[in-house]
Amino acid sequence: MAKDTPLKPWRLDTLVVSSGRPDRVPGGPINTPIELSSIFHHGGEIAYARDSNATQESLEDILGDLEGGTARVFSSGMGAISAVIDSLAQNSKIVVPRDSYSGTRHLLTELASQGRIRWVGVDITDQENVLENCKDGDLLWIESPTNPLLNIANIAELCSIAHKLGAMAVVDNTFATPLVQRPLSLGADLVVHSATKYISGHSDVLGGAVITRDQEWVRKVTTRRSVGGAVLGAFEAFLLTRGIRTLALRIEKSQSNALLLARRLEGHDKVTRVRYPGLVSHPGHELAKAQMTGFGSIVSFELCGGESDAARDGAERLCSAVKLCTDATSLGGVETLLERRKRWDYEDFTPQGLIRVSLGIENIEDIWTDIESGLDQI
Ligand SMILES: *Cc1c(COP(=O)(O)O)cnc(C)c1O
Repeated sequence: MAKDTPLKPWRLDTLVVSSGRPDRVPGGPINTPIELSSIFHHGGEIAYARDSNATQESLEDILGDLEGGTARVFSSGMGAISAVIDSLAQNSKIVVPRDSYSGTRHLLTELASQGRIRWVGVDITDQENVLENCKDGDLLWIESPTNPLLNIANIAELCSIAHKLGAMAVVDNTFATPLVQRPLSLGADLVVHSATKYISGHSDVLGGAVITRDQEWVRKVTTRRSVGGAVLGAFEAFLLTRGIRTLALRIEKSQSNALLLARRLEGHDKVTRVRYPGLVSHPGHELAKAQMTGFGSIVSFELCGGESDAARDGAERLCSAVKLCTDATSLGGVETLLERRKRWDYEDFTPQGLIRVSLGIENIEDIWTDIESGLDQI
């Protein structure tokens, strides 16, 4: 699925299955066991499970192979993001898409209020705007597609702008997954993930990851994990490993569902705008085609009424009317979720009537019937 060659001879949709296995010894297990021990006999490499454990190392091998670097896993996506931010020098300036994941901006707002860091929100599709703000910046945070506006950022160009100005570039690759987009190959210094989403795929576990080729950064985030304590439990590491084995199949199905839903929504008279990079009408369509191998499985759409109460109420009515799709936050699971995104804090740039849909792997005809009959009730 990937455009460039992975580190190992297998393709990425093979690596999701083959990586992170125990050595092939007669009678040995083919899956890494859930290693339930917080302590280890003295004299070995690991003494205590806050530093590492075998089940999480298997998952790190898989994620490292997929993204093309060294992975460290964390107890949540925010745990991974915090490990990166906490490793920055005092008063560092972070440049962030203003429509980035709300939790990231919440974290930065908290840290800025303590005088720990500075941050500024930018339009990540506007390279002039990014360049201007990176001049005294230390870290450029990139999301593409963004959440929930699904804007596409030119990752390679933004990384090179950041590097020329002496800043590092980090990509939150949660929405795309490494099967669809590989930011380290596009020039990013670090990739972060909320493994809670597509990597898990089953909405039953929290997890996060940082992946990098820079060994100094591997050391930094490993230290942050050990002393900060955002350690992924062995059972959670097992669930994530089990989930990732089917990532390629799940992505294939949910992406094709997303394109079909986006096209049908575009023709619906109660919908004013559909945001999906796979649509020719999307301003980032050509760029997405160039830097991704697919268009992801998230579709956002806006209902008639602009910023009016009617648009807000209509969107809430649709969310409560659906019977197959689930009105819940989050994304990346086998089940289709939708929500009115503006419900949440830190969604200043989100239109009142915007619905974000995370496509699952159900039959698209059933998903469409459900959403269409919800739209009829507005
Ligand atoms: C969910 C999410 C996060 C946070 O991850 P958690 O696992 O919930 O802590 C970060 N970035 C993006 C893009 C997300 O969707």
